[in-house]
Amino acid sequence: MKVLVLNCGSSSVKFQLVETDEASAVAGRDRALAKGIVENIGGLAILRYEAEGQKPLKETGEILEHKIAVERILGLLTREDVGVLRDRREIDAVGHRMVHGGERFKTSVLIDDDVLGGIEDCIDLAPLHNPPNIKGYRAARELLQVLHVAVFDTSFHQTMPAEAYLYGLPYVLYQRHGVRRYGFHGTSHRFVSRRMAEILGRVGDPTLRVITCHLGNGCSITAIRGGHSVDTSMGLTPLEGLLMGTRAGDIDAGIVLHVMTVEELGISEANALLNKHSGLLGISGVSNDMRALLQAESEGHERARVAVEVFCYRLKKYIAAYVGVLEGIDAVVFTGGIGENAIPIRARSVAGLETMGLRLDHERNAAARAIEAEVSADDSPGKIWVIPTNEELLIARDTMRIVSGLPPE
Ligand code: AMP
Repeated sequence: MKVLVLNCGSSSVKFQLVETDEASAVAGRDRALAKGIVENIGGLAILRYEAEGQKPLKETGEILEHKIAVERILGLLTREDVGVLRDRREIDAVGHRMVHGGERFKTSVLIDDDVLGGIEDCIDLAPLHNPPNIKGYRAARELLQVLHVAVFDTSFHQTMPAEAYLYGLPYVLYQRHGVRRYGFHGTSHRFVSRRMAEILGRVGDPTLRVITCHLGNGCSITAIRGGHSVDTSMGLTPLEGLLMGTRAGDIDAGIVLHVMTVEELGISEANALLNKHSGLLGISGVSNDMRALLQAESEGHERARVAVEVFCYRLKKYIAAYVGVLEGIDAVVFTGGIGENAIPIRARSVAGLETMGLRLDHERNAAARAIEAEVSADDSPGKIWVIPTNEELLIARDTMRIVSGLPPE
């Protein structure tokens, strides 16, 4: 089955065409036939496209709305020289990444009018993300008369117990406005934790305890027992938890009130401060990019060093806390651009956790870059692995299962 995966942002559409079916998904043999991204929709857009076994292609041109972007993508997928399809009707289904599914969507789901209404009801919880996701769906629905499936960033975390998702705020805020922890990056945490269970031969084992660290531009960490998320670091919004590229992660909520007062900031300025000017960039003043920071640190840049140190310290604190939550640990997984590539970050964030059963093998760690690999020592009771994430593949697999009438995983 050929599934088109769409991930629509406010001015971008990321896409992948994936060939998958039940047997190839179980065997891990399903694959992307083509992928790419359209950026800067609304102006002079850039379209990048790469089909299996071909040279990447880049085009520039005016694209004013998501529907035209999807139309252009379909044009490339069926173009004689670079296409992988003869006709767009070869696309069997479309899987849409949706950011927020609130408390209603606990699994991926076929989109109908009622579901669409439910996703629209979650706009209050993700005002920047759900509207472009919905826009992308509407555009794709007009162009492709097939079944469409929504896969949510939040649904994997719906198994968290109340003690993990409730904040110490008046309960009425939860009742009236849904103020609670939802968590994000669910497709990534689910993908790598499932893969970890497969590697360990423990799929379906209710006692398996895994901590997954998704470390990219956005970062989050999840405690997973028996394949179910029991706690995660992002909250009502993706702002909470680990230090990120430009987001603050955990801070004293009182800081927001204080800084808004002393700096005379409005809501949108405070929002930009916390989401765009904080994190690694905010502390270092150099970059939000971990590569650049590690380079600057090696050249003696003090604030770059401190920023990296805060990043690793906080990550270590969360790993240790989640070992407590899980009452032990079988495996820690690193994924995302930093988790998959940044050798010193992995080393620094588990250093000292040997007493908790996590012992890194430094040679294995140094050799593991963007590949699936064990990086723990043979005698480490808790395993440490690098597992590259693949959110698009998981979206395609969910879509395939749902349109085939199989139960969602
Ligand atoms: P992502 O959002 O998953 O694409 O991850 C982006 C982050 O991964 C950025 O902070 C990059 O600097 C970081 N990253 C990618 N490759 C490396 C590398 N080789 N070493 C350190 N950080 C890296």
